[in-house]
Amino acid sequence: MLVRLLYASRATHAMTEAELQAILKSSRDHNPATGLTGLLCYSDGIFIQVLEGGRDAVNARYKAIVDDARHRDVIILSYEEIGERHFAGWSMGQVNLHRLNPALVLKYSATTKLDPYAMSGRALMALFQELVSTGAIVCS
Ligand code: FAD
Repeated sequence: MLVRLLYASRATHAMTEAELQAILKSSRDHNPATGLTGLLCYSDGIFIQVLEGGRDAVNARYKAIVDDARHRDVIILSYEEIGERHFAGWSMGQVNLHRLNPALVLKYSATTKLDPYAMSGRALMALFQELVSTGAIVCS
């Protein structure tokens, strides 16, 4: 049973590049053991993350992530059973924000500002898939 979970949250303080990389490293260290894959985007104090994998693994990791003191206001934007993964290639890919141009954001939202609290989960997922297809995902 595979599921895909998409959530957004607000960082409790402006993340430095080192802090962001520490979260990505922790994710890439932990996720393969439980078969989790996904993407993480951090922009203007907001995290957006998609997690894919077995239902138990996704639920357990999400619970740990929600308890993380580095962010707050965590909201689930989408949670669905899936037949296949969209982001199988990434234990945790990082969205390259240089590829996140205003026109692409505008395609899926009301304004050029990426605001997951004002977007549907479906639109955000479509945006992430487009970023994948344009090679905008970074993974060290
Ligand atoms: P530890 O790293 O020892 O963490 C112990 C506790 O301290 C945890 O509650 C942790 O949340 C907290 N913590 C750790 N470092 C800091 C810090 N610098 N400042 C404040 N609190 C801290 N982990 C994954 O494995 N996979 C993911 O995909 C993933 N995505 C994340 C996305 C976001 C937006 C954030 C903020 C965190 C994410 N994490 C992810 C990290 C996750 O929340 C846990 O830190 C991680 O799972 C390790 O937890 P741990 O209890 O095993 O160990």
